[in-house]
Amino acid sequence: MLKDIFMGLSQNQFLNSAAKKYGLKMGAQSVVAGTNINEVIKSIKELNAHGISCTVDNLGEFVFKEKEANAAKEQILNVIEAIYEHKVDAHISLKPTQLGLDIEYSFCLSNLREIVDKASNYGIFVNIDMEDTSHLQPTFDLLDDLSKEYDNVGTVIQAYLLRADEYLEKYKNYRLRIVKGAYKEPIECAYQDKKDIDANFIKLIEWHLLNGKFTSIATHDHNIINHVKEFVRKHNIPNEKFEIQMLYGFRKDLQLKLASEGYNFCTYVPFGTDWYGYFMRRLAERPQNLNLVAKQVFNKKTNTILGVAAGAFLLGRMTKSTKKKRR
Ligand SMILES: Cc1cc2nc3c(=O)[nH]c(=O)nc-3n(C[C@H](O)[C@H](O)[C@H](O)COP(=O)(O)OP(=O)(O)OC[C@H]3O[C@@H](n4cnc5c(N)ncnc54)[C@H](O)[C@@H]3O)c2cc1C
Repeated sequence: MLKDIFMGLSQNQFLNSAAKKYGLKMGAQSVVAGTNINEVIKSIKELNAHGISCTVDNLGEFVFKEKEANAAKEQILNVIEAIYEHKVDAHISLKPTQLGLDIEYSFCLSNLREIVDKASNYGIFVNIDMEDTSHLQPTFDLLDDLSKEYDNVGTVIQAYLLRADEYLEKYKNYRLRIVKGAYKEPIECAYQDKKDIDANFIKLIEWHLLNGKFTSIATHDHNIINHVKEFVRKHNIPNEKFEIQMLYGFRKDLQLKLASEGYNFCTYVPFGTDWYGYFMRRLAERPQNLNLVAKQVFNKKTNTILGVAAGAFLLGRMTKSTKKKRR
């Protein structure tokens, strides 16, 4: 129920636009590292000081106009410049739809090429995040096209996909992030049951650790992480072959612990004024994250938080909702 409420809120174009005007609110500042480049660089430096590298995501939702996609591209180019100037340990994560994949493939490819080219000159890696299955094949096509010219680019394999093992084998020579998968997908193409997804996730991680180039294991799931620790120990897989990734603001103690244990650790650091949809999806993923909101919005009287969420949902229902679930 709560999951549906927050997913509904995340897809609401009106609330997404409205939130842009107000800076980080409702506790979003716990999971979004600022609204501008200076703020995100400051957060990266703090994480780097703990031996944690970062992957930076310039948040963006509902991009259907060339002008917006071009603005997103410029902002990502500026982030690359800032990473280089400040000599921080960070790379880029981006979403093809933000760069115009829903407008035209060749337009998106040209935007991405500019980004990957600049990053390549500075020795910075670019990860193409994986969105819902309607964008799956075009995203692999972007990777295929870009890798004809560049080797600083990789993507994500979602373990809930029935064909994930095929994709993993095909792209095993790329740096890959493996995740459970964040979108609502039909039974024809994706496992629905958590047990099946977890089992496939472990199978894919193990396979890529043994056969792949470099594996980013992106999860907050301590059971999976403990399993990976044991697996790499048993198979003598060196630290240089993998890293663990988590989202900014989540399980901070565990992030610091893993880094201090000597594992390569990378935090996914989202930033930007377009924070609202991302924040609502985090609440949908794990309603317990409501305590992030409660801490910020109500100092003591927290028990009306569900009323606020429901009220906001009703407001959301009165406005148009268009997009599918995304990360
Ligand atoms: C760095 C990163 C990048 C990602 N990129 C993509 C992408 O490109 N495409 C995509 O589709 N998806 C992406 N995802 C999202 C991913 O697919 C999952 O939807 C998301 O990570 C939730 O699954 P999980 O593995 O973290 O654990 P879950 O299945 O959500 O949780 C498993 C268990 O872990 C524990 N746990 C989880 N979160 C917490 C917490 N905050 N505090 C305490 N315990 C907790 C709980 O015991 C929980 O039962 C990404 C995730 C990360 C971390």
